[in-house]
Amino acid sequence: MSRDPAPHLADVLAEIQARMGEQIDRGQVADYIPELAATDPNQFGISLVLADGTQLSAGDCATPFSIQSISKVFGLAIALGRLGDQLWSRVRREPSGLAFNSILQLEYENGIPRNPFVNAGAIVTTDAALGNRQPRDYLAELLTFIRTAAGDEQIHINQAVARSEAKTGHRNLALAHFLKSQGNLVNAPDLVLGAYFHQCAIAMTVAQLARSGRFLSNLQRLISPDRVRRINALMLTCGHYDGSGEFAFRVGLPGKSGVGGGILAIAPGRASIAVWSPGLNAQGNSKLGTEALEMLARRTGWSIFG
Ligand code: GLU
Repeated sequence: MSRDPAPHLADVLAEIQARMGEQIDRGQVADYIPELAATDPNQFGISLVLADGTQLSAGDCATPFSIQSISKVFGLAIALGRLGDQLWSRVRREPSGLAFNSILQLEYENGIPRNPFVNAGAIVTTDAALGNRQPRDYLAELLTFIRTAAGDEQIHINQAVARSEAKTGHRNLALAHFLKSQGNLVNAPDLVLGAYFHQCAIAMTVAQLARSGRFLSNLQRLISPDRVRRINALMLTCGHYDGSGEFAFRVGLPGKSGVGGGILAIAPGRASIAVWSPGLNAQGNSKLGTEALEMLARRTGWSIFG
């Protein structure tokens, strides 16, 4: 006799929450953005939305956190909407094998970033999405996109986080100026970074984040299925930086992490899943978030690799 999936999944989420609550080593909270440094590492939340619209959550699901690089997925959708395939002459689609903020590759690859999810690639993508508009106009479009995706008008930008990163983001400034010197930035570096830092400072709860990913699981139609498939491919191969191979091996789902400790993972056609735990592993991806998704994928059999 087949079981109703929703009660079974509720048990699985409760079990994952209990297991994560027992973990002693919770990773390191990102402190290079001073405003994030004080986040309590003892928090954990998980939420998922199923194809029938059911949403199940466990843990700290109502606490907004900084989505950071998860925002790059939405920024990419907007840039592709404006430029289409022309974007791919400015940013590639290969895993970098290097840290999210690495400068190294960019010089010997002539200012063309490896993919849209490493910082250099996201800065180029933001520049493309910005076009000749002011950052506030791009950010308004981005927020509208995310609010529509999540079905929630409350989603906002945490200005204190944006200011904090703007004050200390020298490495991103270096990347932006290098990109400009290579002719791969149309707008002034300060303008692009203003938009980029504000985009990264969007705050969401894990429940809002799970709903915002429905379009990537094909549970909601916001962009074309072709584009969804390609964004998922990039999330799988590049969404966890130099931890992308390991994430694919352990979890087997397209996913995008952020240094705020969130991960958005996509089980195509089945579910949009969000986890949050602020402590990061050595690659800057949520430590418990990854473990929780690994447990979920194993229990549900949702890995795209069978
Ligand atoms: N705003 C962060 C940075 O540029 C995003 C990094 C991340 O979340 O991986 O450093």
